[in-house]
Amino acid sequence: MIHLSDDEYLDLLCLKNGLYDPLDRFMCEDEFKNVLMDFRLLNKSVFTMPIFLKADSNFKLGQIKSLIYKGKKIASIKITSVYKITKEQICELYVCKNETHPGIKKEFEKGFWRCGGELVSFEQILLENFLYKNCIKEEFQKLDKDIQTICGFQTRNAIHKAHEHLQRTALEFCDALFINPLTGYKKSGDFTNEAVFKAYETMLLKFYPKKRVLLKPLQTAMRYAGPKEAIFHAIIRRNLGCTHFIIGRDHAGVGDFYEKYAAQDFAKHFKDDLGIHILALKEPYYCKVCEQITSEKSCSHTEKDKIYISATNIRKSLLSKEIPSEKIIRKEISSELLKLENIFI
Ligand SMILES: [Zn+2]
Repeated sequence: MIHLSDDEYLDLLCLKNGLYDPLDRFMCEDEFKNVLMDFRLLNKSVFTMPIFLKADSNFKLGQIKSLIYKGKKIASIKITSVYKITKEQICELYVCKNETHPGIKKEFEKGFWRCGGELVSFEQILLENFLYKNCIKEEFQKLDKDIQTICGFQTRNAIHKAHEHLQRTALEFCDALFINPLTGYKKSGDFTNEAVFKAYETMLLKFYPKKRVLLKPLQTAMRYAGPKEAIFHAIIRRNLGCTHFIIGRDHAGVGDFYEKYAAQDFAKHFKDDLGIHILALKEPYYCKVCEQITSEKSCSHTEKDKIYISATNIRKSLLSKEIPSEKIIRKEISSELLKLENIFI
């Protein structure tokens, strides 16, 4: 038997529910190498992150192993590939040589043996709120059958004015907005899931149009792989039924491991065969001269006039129990956050 980690368990459910479609199994060595070198699965469809299972060197091909999570059997896997990955491959995957990168560190901690293979049986698993293929398209069409275009929004933060600006921009020309906060593994210092949901529930209740915005969690781990994870996030939202996906500043990045717009540049390579339109939006900021949230695309002012909005700035105020400037986050949101016991992990 194989005991699944939290991340592997969520990957298993995503594979089962079609969120990683067309991938339906843990990756064999050839598939992993293809993803690493060409950003594609063996069947040529775009895929940028490996989905593999940690293994022991004594695993044998053809073995059927039970997959256990928290003492319960979830499924079985027929092992078709057992392989050892290298430190260099992991660094290449994250396009980073720094071993303090949280994604790289986590891979190293798992050891280097991996296995892949078909999932041959699933036990009945009841999971509230777990998304499945095309569920968002179906749900919006129940609300309004005229909804054709849906923009997906990935986040791990409580909503601030910059994210609101991106979302409103999308709502101006798409029929609907799907806010999909990631609730799997996140690093220390990130917002708790409770804080993210409290913030968005407040936003939906008080500001956004009811039938055009949906909020649901995405249960998969953050990899902090920057550009490659941005494409992976887009693929998941395509599978959920979104037609558009926002990639903003430093998508899925961490610290300063990736350039500000590296994810947008990387996305250009897949423009024609990703199956979802990428909205590459510039970073919104508050401009003291324009007196509003704007971006370099519609404001001509200099750096000294700009107030940048980031989770880091907001974190500082909230940790000292202060309401941050209303230029960067709505007071309706920050006052709700301050009522929580744990705003950050
Ligand atoms: Zn301006």
